Amino acid sequence: MKHFAVMFFIIALWCTALPSLQSIGFGDGVHAAVGEESKEESVEESAPSFESVQPLSVRVKTEKEDLHLSIEEYTARALSAVMAEDAPTEALKAQAVAIRSFALHRLNNPCHEDFDVCVNPNCCYPLSNTPAVLCVKAASDTKGQILCYENEAVLGLSHLSSCICTESYGDCPYLQSVPVYNEEQFECYKTHYSFEEALLATELSLDLASLPDKLEDWVDHIEFTSGNRVKTVSVCGKSFSGGEFSHLLGLDSLCFTVNTNANGFDVVCYGSGSGYGLSRCTAMLMGAEGKDYREILSCFYPETELRFIKD
Ligand SMILES: [Zn+2]
Repeated sequence: MKHFAVMFFIIALWCTALPSLQSIGFGDGVHAAVGEESKEESVEESAPSFESVQPLSVRVKTEKEDLHLSIEEYTARALSAVMAEDAPTEALKAQAVAIRSFALHRLNNPCHEDFDVCVNPNCCYPLSNTPAVLCVKAASDTKGQILCYENEAVLGLSHLSSCICTESYGDCPYLQSVPVYNEEQFECYKTHYSFEEALLATELSLDLASLPDKLEDWVDHIEFTSGNRVKTVSVCGKSFSGGEFSHLLGLDSLCFTVNTNANGFDVVCYGSGSGYGLSRCTAMLMGAEGKDYREILSCFYPETELRFIKD
């Protein structure tokens, strides 16, 4: 009981701090983006023309068939799978560049046998069969453009929504945690789940013979990452990584709180997706207020440069 009360206090304190933390982080992020604008402009001016770009082929493994797509078709179809075409144009363009960079990174750093990318959203980008017109246009408007870190195409990860900040992807220098906008207005930002005690015990394969009598005593320790996601959580003495807990319960993200109710537990998720790289909700908010796609990219992938694929 004591441990749970401490945990709840920490979570409550963290939730209370959300608005102020977001307003602080938001300002820093935009400032950094604007500061890098001139560098990116100079890179673009010296880049070769679009006509010199050679078509690159991406081998895609889907459930039904294996595809060979030009990198531009792959970009448009993946973009259409993850963003609505009525999203702000600059947000679409930013996501397009991230996807194209991701594909080239996979080509240069193979992690699949006999193909370059899959369509599992937990590994690569999903793919739309028929890309929306405005997604094709956003891909075309950024044709050949990629983000590079030390002359290598970056791993252009992205996700739907984040709370306070994105998550660091290991030690990857351009995928460290950065602040996001307040994304509360998006439906995907907050998701509620309820689990009766028997269901939670089953889903987590808990030892039914040694469950505490009081629900308040079930969850007795929770540890957070620097990106405000759950790193580890202990339930009835059994330790889970945030990823294991989230996967077993089918949660939307690793940023969640656990509280008791009359019949079991309420779990509330903040944000949606891996938390790595570009947050599409913040990208849309930035695009809606007139930010250029290069500013959006600078926020989420700092220290990178916008280049064209070389011929
Ligand atoms: Zn994959």
